[in-house]
Amino acid sequence: MALYAELHRHLGGSVVPRVLWRYLQRNGSALAERFSDYPAFENFYTRPRNTLDEYLELHTLVESVQTEVALPYFVYRLMRGAYIFENLAYLELRYTPYLRTPEHLSQSERIERMANVVDVVGRSSQIKEYPIVTSQILCMHLRLPYEVNRAIVDLAAQSREYVCAIDLAGGDNHYGDRLEEFVELYAYARSLGLNTTGHVYETRDGCHPKLLPYLMRIGHGIQIPLQHPELLQTLAERGQCLEICPTTYLKTGTLTDLSELKVVFDRCFDAGVDVAICTDNAGLHNVRLPFEYENLLTHDVIDFQQLQACQDAAFRHAFVWPHRHRPESLLTNLLKAETTEHPLLLEPTALSSGAGE
Ligand SMILES: [Zn+2]
Repeated sequence: MALYAELHRHLGGSVVPRVLWRYLQRNGSALAERFSDYPAFENFYTRPRNTLDEYLELHTLVESVQTEVALPYFVYRLMRGAYIFENLAYLELRYTPYLRTPEHLSQSERIERMANVVDVVGRSSQIKEYPIVTSQILCMHLRLPYEVNRAIVDLAAQSREYVCAIDLAGGDNHYGDRLEEFVELYAYARSLGLNTTGHVYETRDGCHPKLLPYLMRIGHGIQIPLQHPELLQTLAERGQCLEICPTTYLKTGTLTDLSELKVVFDRCFDAGVDVAICTDNAGLHNVRLPFEYENLLTHDVIDFQQLQACQDAAFRHAFVWPHRHRPESLLTNLLKAETTEHPLLLEPTALSSGAGE
C-alpha cells in the first residue's frame, strides 16, 4: 500500500460539498435556502469557473462559514477523509488566519485573534484515530493590508509547533504594484528562518520573477515550463519544487485540457526540476489526491515511473516530514524484520524448498 504526502491544500477548499451542505442545513444558514436541493448546491459549488477571480470568490463563501467555533467540525472531517479515502501520511494545510477571525472586530483585535485560530486548527488536526503528520502554512493575502500580512509572518515565526511555512494567495494576476511589498515580506520571512512557498506563475499574468529567489517551493508555477522554460535551470539549481494541482487549471479556465500539462511535466523532468502533484482544493473540486494521480496516468500526461518520482518529491520537499524516507519503506522494513523473526510469516512457497512446483 502506498501512502501519500499532500503539500498544497487550502483549508477553505478542502471541505467536500456534502459536508458543507450538512453544516449549512444544521445551522439553518441562509445560504442553504438559496438552493432547492443538494444536487443544485453541489452543481453550484463544484462547477468550473471562467477565471481565477471567479473561482476565488468561492473561497470567500467558505471562509465566512469557517469561524473559530466551526473550524473543529470541518478540520475533523477533513482529516478523517484524508486518512480513510486518500491514504495521506503527511498533510500541509494552508489558509489565511485573519479571514477566520470575527469580521466585526477592529483590525488590531482581529490580528490578535489569529493566534487563537492557529491553535484551534492545530489542536483539531491532531486526531488519534487518523494519525497524519500535519502542519499549517499561513497565507498572506492580496486583499489584506501590509500590516496584517506582516503580522501573519510574525505569527508563523511564533507558532512553530503548528506552522511550517508561509504562502501568498489571492490571485497571482493581481500582485502588480504591490510586488515590492511582497518581496520585502518574503525576505523578512526568510530572515526569521521560515519556510516559504507562494502562488505564482499560475496564470499568464502571474509571472513575477522577482519573487522566485525567495521561494523554497512554487505554488503552481506551470507558466514557467509553458512560457519561460529558460528559468527551469535556475529552479533546478536552487532545488525548488513546483506544486502542480492539475484539476485547478481546468476549474479556473487557465487550461482547457489536462493534456496541456504533458509539456509542463516533460520540461520539468528534462531540466531536473522536482514536481509534487497536489489537489489545491480537493473539496471544491470533488477530486481527491489519488484521483489526481490516476487522471494524469489515464490521460497519458505522465507514466507510472514519473508518478512515483513526483510522489517521492512530495515527501522530500515536505517542510516537516520527520523521516528520511517515504512511509512505505518504513513499513517494508518493519515487515521484513517481522518475517525474519517469524519465518512462518514468509510465503509458503519460500519455506517448502525442494517441494518444487
Ligand atoms: Zn492554491
